[in-house]
Amino acid sequence: MYTGQTEQSCCLCNHHETVSRLDLPPRAIKLMKNSGSIAWRDVVGTVSIHFCADDWNLIRDLITEMQLNPLGRCNVAQASFSIREDFEALLSDTKPEPDQTAVEERLISTAQKTLAEVDSDPLIEERDHVEALLTLQTLMKLDVISSTKAFDSSLDPES
Ligand SMILES: [Zn+2]
Repeated sequence: MYTGQTEQSCCLCNHHETVSRLDLPPRAIKLMKNSGSIAWRDVVGTVSIHFCADDWNLIRDLITEMQLNPLGRCNVAQASFSIREDFEALLSDTKPEPDQTAVEERLISTAQKTLAEVDSDPLIEERDHVEALLTLQTLMKLDVISSTKAFDSSLDPES
């Protein structure tokens, strides 16, 4: 059981030196390896996965050039996230299902903004671009958003 945010090793090869981190919506856990027992709805904030230098190059190419989603190979045991404390359940008999909608909407709009500006804004880093693509790919795969909504070109900041 994970209770706090700690730096983790590479989610693909378990190497302890990592060079990059991606922050994803908690629902992404459903696509990861060994995720069966994790209550993703109880995750607070985002889920972070980490990559060593070699794997980062591979993952970046898979996501940006081949539009492949690598999460199925990422071991959730190497992901970092916070599970919400269960105080509410102790204080009340009925525990409402945590709602991830607000977090997902925020991440979707951030990702779309990044994709809209990536060609014109030199301050957008490679990892931000990869994170934006993977966020949208993942939420599409989990039927949270449709592909037309995910990559909506009307979000062009020039307009
Ligand atoms: Zn690695």
